[in-house]
Amino acid sequence: MKSYEATNPAQWSLEEMKQSWINWIENLVNDPESQIPGTRLILQVEENPEAKEIFLLWESLNPQDRVTKWKILLALTEEEYKNPLPACIQCGECCLRGSPTLHVDDLELLRENKIPWEYVYTLRRGEPVHNPLTGKPFFLVDERIKISEKPGTNECVFYDPKNRLCTIYENRPLQCRAQACWDISAFKQLEDIPYLTRHDIFGEIEVLMDIIAEHEKKCSFEKLHALFKLLDKNQSIANQIIELVSFESHFRSFIQKELNIPKATTKLLFGRSLENLLPLFGCKLEIDGDTKFLKVIKET
Ligand code: SF4
Repeated sequence: MKSYEATNPAQWSLEEMKQSWINWIENLVNDPESQIPGTRLILQVEENPEAKEIFLLWESLNPQDRVTKWKILLALTEEEYKNPLPACIQCGECCLRGSPTLHVDDLELLRENKIPWEYVYTLRRGEPVHNPLTGKPFFLVDERIKISEKPGTNECVFYDPKNRLCTIYENRPLQCRAQACWDISAFKQLEDIPYLTRHDIFGEIEVLMDIIAEHEKKCSFEKLHALFKLLDKNQSIANQIIELVSFESHFRSFIQKELNIPKATTKLLFGRSLENLLPLFGCKLEIDGDTKFLKVIKET
């Protein structure tokens, strides 16, 4: 792939010009202060009549005009970047970057099954997560309920990438309604609205709340963090981590069978399993015959 800096626009084919333009945009939106996703800027500029004409006529332009039009394209891209349309143009980047966290106002969506239970999960207190605005990692001080992501990605489970659509658009959660890449002020105002918790959902079912409390007491992230802090100094701690992780796996499958609840719902009741989250602590559980051991891996 040619770089727009290393070659001359006068010589570019339409394809090379578009690729150079996309590279230039990626560089522009790379600024940590920038909220506008590159895909959105591309879609927005592609709708600009002057840009449309440049793309349409590029192959027929003489070399000198290509250089002039290239400069115009960059200038109008920068202008669109500084003045994004104050509206969603369905670039889909928000839905690709992560699923929403639910607030108390979203409870009815769950109760009315507009968002089915199996598509939400709990992030527990102390769980390592990333800030959706800055991408920085931190440990949760309070629990959250979140819509699931597609396996191995950050993409919301309800996003249809082919048609760039939300499949629950009419019933999308509060955070999605407030989300606006051209202005994050509405998103920030959500900080005043309490997050949904398991207590809001199951508070009236005493037996479930007791089980959740027992799980928190025996299998908390505080315990896991404390053990990992000691791991470097004392290798026997690895066995305690394995015991904790194994107990937690057993706890959730035992309760699932005893209460006959769907497996997918256990991640709402008890959060994600400690075993699945071990990579966030730089290791994973391996089994060799009857022996379980912690294998150190690269931190993700
Ligand atoms: S619920 Fe809909 S709008 Fe919200 S992140 Fe998912 S796909 Fe996007």
